[in-house]
Amino acid sequence: MLEPPGYNQATMLTRRRFGAATLGAASSLFSQSACSPEESADTRTADSEASQPSLLEASIVLDLHCDTPMLITDEGYDLGQRHDYGEVDIPRMREGGISGVFFSIYMPVSQSAASAKQRSFEIIEAVVAEVGRHPGDLILGRRSEDIRRAKQENKIAIFMGLEGGHAIDSDLDVLRSQFQKGVRYMTLTHSSNTPWAGSSGDEDRSKGLTEFGREVVQEMNRLGMMVDISHVSDQTFFDTLETAKAPLVASHSSCRALSSHPRNMTDEMIEALAKNGGVIHINFYNEFLDARHRVYAPAYEDLSEKAAEVRKTFADDSKQRSIELRKLDLERVARTGRVPFERLLDHFEHAAKVAGPDHVGLGSDFDGVSAQTPEGMEDISKVPHLIEGLRARRFSDDDISKILGGNTLRVMKAVEQAAHA
Ligand SMILES: [Zn+2]
Repeated sequence: MLEPPGYNQATMLTRRRFGAATLGAASSLFSQSACSPEESADTRTADSEASQPSLLEASIVLDLHCDTPMLITDEGYDLGQRHDYGEVDIPRMREGGISGVFFSIYMPVSQSAASAKQRSFEIIEAVVAEVGRHPGDLILGRRSEDIRRAKQENKIAIFMGLEGGHAIDSDLDVLRSQFQKGVRYMTLTHSSNTPWAGSSGDEDRSKGLTEFGREVVQEMNRLGMMVDISHVSDQTFFDTLETAKAPLVASHSSCRALSSHPRNMTDEMIEALAKNGGVIHINFYNEFLDARHRVYAPAYEDLSEKAAEVRKTFADDSKQRSIELRKLDLERVARTGRVPFERLLDHFEHAAKVAGPDHVGLGSDFDGVSAQTPEGMEDISKVPHLIEGLRARRFSDDDISKILGGNTLRVMKAVEQAAHA
């Protein structure tokens, strides 16, 4: 989910230089599994077209971060219908060959911790009820094995991840209840510091994990809940890495070397995450892919003002508010254009070179970034296009399959095993 208006896009921390030798080693490791350079482009394209359905069908396709619950709770969005708005529904998940999605249980940091806690349980209930309304298409995922089961039954597994650690209200009992209800990852912070963890979006980005923050991470490991370091400060990332006994995920972050944004991961962080066995799930939001998109800000300043008016005018009418805000989103996209598809591929390629292809996954942030996704990736149905793009970048089918979901499934299993160790 995007940071709320007023988010401070201050200057970035200086990235520590990534050793060229290490990068070179990771790069050659990565290229070993890619297509042979001698293979002609024509042959490769023909092969790709012939084998694409089988790769998609054979793969576990798992997107670790979609903000669709907002539409469900605020607008009564029916997942069973194909919509001309929003980015995720059952027909489009089917088209995209999706095996599973993590729905984000998101609470703005502007809410008090107590009300965020209450709201988290309301959203969880709404997701569970919506899944229950589509028993022929969906199952509620609670364990990694549910993804394979869903796939065998030709269904889609809907999992839940909590976005924003403030929603546990600094209480491990609340965390345990959320786990009990089905939450299987938690993003330690959203865009502000919690009392126990520093955020990348806070004015003070020097804060890491407090002692209680370390207890939260340990309890998540004990329960078998994935620890998500998207949105946290760099210090929180390294403190979490030191504390956790299971691999971590970045559920929706991209590469800071390509787009200098504090929400993205430095090469040093990506490499450390991989060493720990974790996965960076690439976020599709235009500013995280290309910082140059920020220069467009003056071109839609008036739209931001209109959005503020809409929020005020429709404060008590969430459905109409969303409809009006969507119109402004589309106008902004029309004015600024989308990030080129190739730029998204750059992030997948960079992350795979730094971390190795076993440590990269999908974290689109669909329904959370106001329609600002790349060309060709307008919604979740476009996964086949992503496969073609990765093939054109010489990723092997084996690596593509791992990036689509195999890597994430491995982390889910590792987290479950660590919980029972
Ligand atoms: Zn987010």
